[in-house]
Parts: sequence; structure tokens; C-alpha cells
Amino acid sequence: MSRASDGTVYLVGAGPGDPELLTVRARRLLDAADVVLHDRLVSDDILDACPDSAAVVDVGKRPGPDGERTTQEEIDALLVREARAGRDVVRLKGGDPTVFGRGGEESEHLAAAGVDFEVVPGVTSAVAAPAVAGIPPTHRDRASSLTVVTGHEDPTKAESALDWASLAGNVAAGGTLVVLMGVGRLPDNVAALRGHGLDADTPAAMVENATREAEYTVTGTLDTIVERARRVGIDPPAVAVVGDVVEVRDRVAEYLRGAGATGAVGGSERRVSDNRGVE
Ligand code: SAH
Repeated sequence: MSRASDGTVYLVGAGPGDPELLTVRARRLLDAADVVLHDRLVSDDILDACPDSAAVVDVGKRPGPDGERTTQEEIDALLVREARAGRDVVRLKGGDPTVFGRGGEESEHLAAAGVDFEVVPGVTSAVAAPAVAGIPPTHRDRASSLTVVTGHEDPTKAESALDWASLAGNVAAGGTLVVLMGVGRLPDNVAALRGHGLDADTPAAMVENATREAEYTVTGTLDTIVERARRVGIDPPAVAVVGDVVEVRDRVAEYLRGAGATGAVGGSERRVSDNRGVE
């Protein structure tokens, strides 16, 4: 049982980056929060708008050797400690808190500790990144299913939680595959899809920094996307999209406005330093 004097933890989605894509509820909770614990994916524009009265803490976890980052156990403990001290905590995550965001793990931990919490959905990059680049995740004539996976796992490992044969089969049957956290392993993942029978000319795209100033999109096919992404220097955060819906971008790009309009259809242009990725 939570105590009346305890605070509440709000597991809040910050959306893909553009502050205008915060939900109204997220903005209201941020304005009233005592403490904001955020991931590194949350954009500065959103954090800068937090009131001075809130303690804003970066608990981002970065993979790699720097190792000095807050561990998940520390974050779990911090959430409980702050709430028990009577503070209302916004746990702010990029996109939606429950899509590859550990919102599930944190809610289980909070429940086990007897802390009240609420989940505030956010606009997930899994849908928003393709969409703003003119690639509709589903389409009446082109895609009747949408599969979202992590690209972080080694597809050649037997213990991979992903069944690449099924994923390839879904695309072959006319579905869309969206891969998050898939920049580093793009070559492996493309090889896995090809190895399970997807055609070399299956359309593919990478959308980097969706809804942010530096948004950039590159399109191609399973045959060309690895080289094109490398050539234009696609870096995280980016989503990969595989399926016929990618071709829609080519037909709508001329009229697509906003940051989503930038990027190379053929991937041959190089990016420039005007921060929009346009030549
Ligand atoms: N909870 C988040 C996903 C966290 S995993 C969500 O719902 O969006 C982190 C991955 O999300 C990144 O590796 C990238 O694949 C994707 N991502 C997050 N923000 C993005 C953005 N603005 N543009 C492109 N991809 C993004």
C-alpha cells in the first residue's frame, strides 16, 4: 500500500523530439513536477521548458565503454526514494515509455515497492519517424501489418529473441518492418532478411532524428540501403523501415513539408552542415 504522503511517479512519453509533439498531459505534468528524471533521447527543447522549481536529472543510459551511467537498478531505486519522500516524479522517456523504453520494468518495480504510478503514452518513433518522412507504416494497398523490433540483437546468434525468418516472411506477405536501435547492426539485419528470402529490390529506408532539426531520411532497397546509409552518415537515433510503403515517400516527397522533407531519395546526396541534411 502506498502512503498518503507519498508522491506519484509518472512514466511519461516525450515523443520523438519536437516539443509540439508532447501530449498536453505530459506538458502539464512536467510543469507541476518536483523531479524530472529523463533519458538522453529527450530533446533539450523539452527540458529547457521545465520550470526552475523542478529538479531535472539526466539518468540516460549510454551503451559503450564510458560505463559511468546510471544503472537501471539505480534508476528504479531513485524513483522509489523520490516518491517516498513525497515528491511527484516525472520519469521522462523518448517516444512512448513502454516501447523499448523499460516502462514495463519500471512499472513492475514501482508496484512491487508499493508506489503509485501512472503511464502517460507518448508518440513513438516507431510510427512517427516513418510517417513524418512520408512513409505510412500501413497503407491500404501496400501494408496490412506493422512489426516493430529491436535491431540491437545479433541476428546470427542462436539465442536471438527475434525470428528473422518470420520477420522476412511478414514483409514478403506485404507487411512493414520497423527496426529501432538498428543503426549499428543494419548490415547484419539486412543480411538476415536477405538470407531468409527477401528480394534485393525490397524497398528500405532509414529515418534519422525524426521531428528534430537535424532530421534526415535516406531510401533505397535491401541491396543499396547499407551503402547509402553509410555514405550519408546515418547515426542514432534512427529507425529502419523495410517494405513497399517506403515507395510512397518517393511519390509524396515533393509536397512534404517540415523537417521530414529533407534527405536523399536516392541516397546519393551528401549531407551538409546547415543542420537540415539538405544539399
Ligand atoms: N521509447 C522510444 C524508443 C526507445 S529505443 C520510442 O517509443 O520511440 C531508442 C530508439 O528509438 C533509437 O535507437 C531509434 O531507433 C528510435 N528513435 C527514437 N527517437 C527517434 C527519432 N527522433 N528519430 C528516429 N529514431 C528515433
